[in-house]
Amino acid sequence: MQIDVPSKGTRNWKGIVWHHSASPDGRTKDWDAIVRYHTSYRIDFDIVTRDQYELRLKERKGTVFQEPWKDVGYHGGTELVEGEPVFHWGRSLASIGAHAGVAKVSNLFNSDYLGICCIGNFDPISPDPKLWEFNLRLTRRLMDEFRIPSANVIGHREVFDRLNVPRQKTCPGNCWNLDLFRADL
Ligand SMILES: [Zn+2]
Repeated sequence: MQIDVPSKGTRNWKGIVWHHSASPDGRTKDWDAIVRYHTSYRIDFDIVTRDQYELRLKERKGTVFQEPWKDVGYHGGTELVEGEPVFHWGRSLASIGAHAGVAKVSNLFNSDYLGICCIGNFDPISPDPKLWEFNLRLTRRLMDEFRIPSANVIGHREVFDRLNVPRQKTCPGNCWNLDLFRADL
């Protein structure tokens, strides 16, 4: 795998949190849609225009109001494009992530752990074997670069376990076996 990891100007990453997009992986490049989502106005997890956002905020029509982030919340993402696994860089490795915060509890996994998103929904099915192997190789590459132990390679849902709070997500999907993933590293 040819992935050039910048070794200068990065934070001292202690671990990796894997996510899924919980959306289907299309045949073509879907990463841009994730970037667009995170950098848009959102109400209850749907993209809205700035005008809609301001109107509905004033009228309190909605529950979760999110302003555009400065960049995609993840440091990178993987997906199958025309059946072949590819990797995309996300936000700078010098920046803390916006992927694993637990409101009113802790932001530790945003500040200390890299956030990588695999596009697809792995609640009903596990990742395609090609993508699984690719994710393992990417993880090993990042582990080497930042001297990360496999114990610190976790799934988003395990963030809640580590913080001793109830799981709020199944991410990166019920069918993504994290013990198996770590054992394969
Ligand atoms: Zn997640």
